[in-house]
Amino acid sequence: CFLQHQVVNLGQGFPDFSPPQFVKEAFIRALNSENSLMNQYTRGFGHPPLVNILALFFGKLLGRDINALDEVLVTVGAYEALFCFFQAMVDDGDEVIIIEPFFDCYEMMAQMAGGRPVFIPLQPKPVSGRMVTSADWELDPAELANKFTKRTKAVILNNPNNPLGKVFTRKELELIADLCVKHDVLCLSDEVYEWLVYDGKEHVRIATLPGMWERTVTVGSGGKTFSATGWKVGWAIGPKQVLRHLRTVHQNTVFHCATAAQQAVAEGLTKELECLGKPESYFISLPQELQRKRDRLAASINAAGLKSILPEGGYFLIADVTATSELPCELYDDKLVKRMITEQGLAAIPVSVFYSAEHKKEFENYIRFCFAKEDSTLSKAEKILQEWK
Ligand code: PMP
Ligand code: GLN
Repeated sequence: CFLQHQVVNLGQGFPDFSPPQFVKEAFIRALNSENSLMNQYTRGFGHPPLVNILALFFGKLLGRDINALDEVLVTVGAYEALFCFFQAMVDDGDEVIIIEPFFDCYEMMAQMAGGRPVFIPLQPKPVSGRMVTSADWELDPAELANKFTKRTKAVILNNPNNPLGKVFTRKELELIADLCVKHDVLCLSDEVYEWLVYDGKEHVRIATLPGMWERTVTVGSGGKTFSATGWKVGWAIGPKQVLRHLRTVHQNTVFHCATAAQQAVAEGLTKELECLGKPESYFISLPQELQRKRDRLAASINAAGLKSILPEGGYFLIADVTATSELPCELYDDKLVKRMITEQGLAAIPVSVFYSAEHKKEFENYIRFCFAKEDSTLSKAEKILQEWK
């Protein structure tokens, strides 16, 4: 029904604004380069300039020396890095702990590898007198500890989280890390929104916690980092003994990622490393811009009588739509979103798609909006929300 209707699209997570000029220019330079090799195959496990800068950049962020050849793998978007992890590390009957709400492919990728997803939902704690934030959704430590069994192979962490926008605190990460170490379990840490953290919150990388480097694969996305999701450049960073298995999957499925796109991301990261933490950094200006857009969308949603759950990070804001609720139905969020698209011309995503079958019904009163959009798009959404009220 999406294509039949002229809709303001706050559904899928992609920016409708342009990537920064310096990475676009780097891409064009690569295509027009005198070095004809820029338009040919490069190293299969990652274009040398890109793996070198990733090793340097993440070496700094993770506080350790990273070997560009053994400990970095470039993939077709973060998505392929996730796929390689599941195919390489999860065997038949292995249990994989997934924190809900979760980026939807984790469940299917775990199952495709023969694994059994084990779900644990973040629980919203009661809040009164102020706006709820993603920090108010917490894991129950005892429940989490109970999910670990002899068959647990990996925990999947998404920090900042899609769709909720939760940025896990150091204490929460320590809890997860201690359990991983105790039970000798791997951690897949999907950190594609690593630069999009708001209100001065700290983004802690779980790979930096004691005992975690050797069991963590950290996944990132050039698309999310430089607002160029169509370029599909991603990476996995982790210890050699784990990454070698991901490399085998990559080599025998995708083999190689687009050279010029990798060159552009390499040049972008090189520039960003030079100005890390300085006002001219894109990793400073982008989250500032997005925080402003987040606040603007949250205000429009609240004015329409819905309740925003203010995200601490990422591209998305989920809204509690209980106030609009009608008679009981199959899944309320799904019904509401279909009606919004066809009748109001505004697209969002029902949050139940980010839950397992066993927990969908409990969380059917939330819908997800993407705020990584031009101000003109947010104005159109605001107008629809005003009329809706
Ligand atoms: N992980 C999460 C949490 C995402 O939201 C997305 C969607 N962009 C991806 C991974 C995939 O990223 P990419 O576009 O780099 O493949
Ligand atoms: N991550 C984006 C979203 O959640 C894009 C979806 C995707 O890559 N499958 O909307």
